[in-house]
Amino acid sequence: VINLCWFRRDLRLHDQAALYHALKDEHPVVPVFVFDTAILGDLEDKTDRRVHFIHQTLEAMQQQLTAAGATLDVFFGTPEAAFDHWTSRYDVRKVFTNHDYEPYARERDTAIAKRLKSQNISFHSYKDQVIFEKKEVLKDNGDPYTIFTPYSKRWLATLTPFYYKPYPVEKYTGNWHRQAPLKIPSLKTMGFVAEQTDFPPADIPEKIIRHYEETRDIPAIQGTSRLGIHLRFGTLSIRELVKTALKDNDTFLKELIWREFFQMILWHFPEVTHASFKKEYDRIAWRNNEKDFERWCQGQTGYPIVDAGMRELNTTGFMHNRVRMITASFLTKHLLIDWRWGEAYFAAKLLDYDLASNNGNWQWAAGCGCDAAPYFRVFNPSLQTQKFDKQLQYIRRWVPELDEFSYPAPMVEHDVARKRALEVYGKALSR
Ligand code: FAD
Repeated sequence: VINLCWFRRDLRLHDQAALYHALKDEHPVVPVFVFDTAILGDLEDKTDRRVHFIHQTLEAMQQQLTAAGATLDVFFGTPEAAFDHWTSRYDVRKVFTNHDYEPYARERDTAIAKRLKSQNISFHSYKDQVIFEKKEVLKDNGDPYTIFTPYSKRWLATLTPFYYKPYPVEKYTGNWHRQAPLKIPSLKTMGFVAEQTDFPPADIPEKIIRHYEETRDIPAIQGTSRLGIHLRFGTLSIRELVKTALKDNDTFLKELIWREFFQMILWHFPEVTHASFKKEYDRIAWRNNEKDFERWCQGQTGYPIVDAGMRELNTTGFMHNRVRMITASFLTKHLLIDWRWGEAYFAAKLLDYDLASNNGNWQWAAGCGCDAAPYFRVFNPSLQTQKFDKQLQYIRRWVPELDEFSYPAPMVEHDVARKRALEVYGKALSR
């Protein structure tokens, strides 16, 4: 008899809630992972670096597990087929995993738990990827917060060291199920191709975090942690990071609270995945010009800061937060293109893509989200450049042709676009 520990967005063998509970239980543990065809099938780019990242991480975990006499059992297919396979291969008593708050994942987990129950196998899920989830930080009347500042105050007031205490997985590593190593399906088998990519390290950059206020808004330097991808796939423990942030920097901690705020919003209001949080914003008459959209995607808008951001994204899978805000504002306000188009483009490209954060921030930029910037605030790309990239260091890195006379003229003039945006938004919201 064994128990399974099902890994998803928690790809590490230390300080991991489900793994801790699994190893502490009486039966030996088999760690498992599904390369879910329902998710992989949606990825058009067969060089998708996130699949590569997951694969590389699993291989590294496999090395550690093999050294302990255990092995990861990785399945390529649907989660249903995976569990059918595992329950025929092993005598499974319990399945341990961590909560995932995305609508698809919630449905999947409910279906799997039901399927297992019919075979007398119990399903146990834990909070792992956030400090506070679901209903842990609520208003006095029991409603969820929809404004960030009071949410973050309550979040901080609720926090005690108990919440960021690590799970001491290492105490129980004697409880792995021992078996010969199994092979992880290759990227090629799954229809993907590995592209040479240097992923940022999972180490906490304490120096950057200490100076975060001074450096975080300057896209030309590495003034932010670049830990997004590790928080997304759980290669870093949020508890460890929060502990560092508490010691070193309140502003950085606030960003981690934004992350939890959007996870909480997605859990309470799953409809935000397709609808504006503020319903009246779905009356906006978007222009949705496909050629305009293409120029934005390719970084050919004639606004160097916008173009630099889009090219950084297309080339590296990363874009600096300040520039994410500028490019998102440009798409929704200057071009009047539906925020959902931009959201989908970022979702396909960002290494740190996370449904809750991407959706929350896009809705914020478009003005239609919870606690969003007021719609009449339209970023001026030139002023943003003067403030955050005065020496044009960041821009020149991504737009080297800037100084040539062939650089395209702005596709829409700022004052004209601003006026047009205010009219279109105003019309939708005044009804
Ligand atoms: P740091 O500045 O070092 O921050 C540390 C961590 O805090 C981040 O890794 C992230 O987990 C969290 N964080 C920081 N800012 C935010 C924020 N505004 N909202 C939520 N969490 C935050 N972040 C994502 O993780 N995934 C996304 O898909 C995503 N899409 C975005 C789309 C738009 C239009 C905008 C404006 C922002 C988006 N962000 C997203 C938020 C933010 O830009 C990134 O988290 C950040 O740039 C990642 O770089 P970093 O790891 O160096 O962040």
